Amino acid sequence: MSVLVYVEQAEGKFKKSVFEAVSYAKAIADQQSTNLTAISIGDVAEGELKELGKYGASKVLNVSTDQLKTFVNQAYASVIAAAAEKEGANIVVLSNSFSGKGLAPRIAVKLKAGLADGAVELPKTDGGKFEVKKTAFSGKAFAITELTSANKVIALNPNAFGVKESAADAAIENFAADVKQSDLATVIKDIVRATDKISLPDAELVVSAGRGLKGPENWGMIEELANLLGAATACSKPVSDADWRPHSEHVGQTGIAISPNLYIAIGISGAIQHLAGVSSSKVIVVINKDSEAPFFKVADYGIVGDAFEVVPKLIEALKAHKA
Ligand code: FAD
Repeated sequence: MSVLVYVEQAEGKFKKSVFEAVSYAKAIADQQSTNLTAISIGDVAEGELKELGKYGASKVLNVSTDQLKTFVNQAYASVIAAAAEKEGANIVVLSNSFSGKGLAPRIAVKLKAGLADGAVELPKTDGGKFEVKKTAFSGKAFAITELTSANKVIALNPNAFGVKESAADAAIENFAADVKQSDLATVIKDIVRATDKISLPDAELVVSAGRGLKGPENWGMIEELANLLGAATACSKPVSDADWRPHSEHVGQTGIAISPNLYIAIGISGAIQHLAGVSSSKVIVVINKDSEAPFFKVADYGIVGDAFEVVPKLIEALKAHKA
């Protein structure tokens, strides 16, 4: 019995959410009085892999083959499940990220495991139970899921647990994955970045705007604020429906769900369908001229004011701070 954590990489680097997943998996391993092993798939430098020890992984299985250089859902799920079987790991942890959402159910099927996706707390293990608190109904409610099967898969929501440092360097072990041709039915040949801007699903800081901006010609100040902060830009659904912004920026129930450290919502009312995709952001700042706008109910900081006055002042202040 042990715990395995999948550490997702992008261009050879781990994101903060990965260190959070490792910290969370380590806490579960401590709960179960067992060890934590991490599995990395793709081209990651040894120094980067060793770093994982700092967050509690005592060993890292490194899968580095040409076939698995880019993310392939079925193949990655098979490799992670095979690693869990080899290590005798009965609990698999991963981030509930874009790719984690695709992997978690597939790994669960392969291991005949119970699945808790969108976990927000450490499992409660009183009385031999294994209960996981997770988000439900697009983040509008929490559910307590009891995982009764021997094998368990847990996908942790970003920003739910935090990063905790514990031990030293991890030992690196190469893991020769047996990849079946049937798992490579879809293969990514090349990734072409549509833009040099920060990718929205991975962004730590997001500046988002809604219909209160009146028209696409007014997005210059939103982009300027985002550039100054090093943030990605996002928008509400009507804005992308009207082609003021690309659909790739649409966040919410029918768009992308994000959990950045900071979400600045400008001229967005805070409809329940919008909140479904952004309410797990760590800090929410709302700028709206209507003090009754529903978004203020979930805001950590609120500015009641006209975006066309407030945003230029923020830009000015940031420029002065940077000078
Ligand atoms: P509005 O509701 O028009 O709000 C504009 C806000 O800007 C107002 O609060 C106003 O006070 C403020 N404002 C106006 N002028 C200024 C100014 N000068 N300065 C500051 N503030 C100003 N929406 C999403 O965003 N994402 C989704 O995924 C999504 N999915 C949906 C799914 C379904 C099935 C349905 C039915 C709806 C969905 N919607 C979604 C739409 C959602 O219900 C709202 O209609 C939408 O979020 C409203 O967008 P908004 O806040 O930009 O516009």
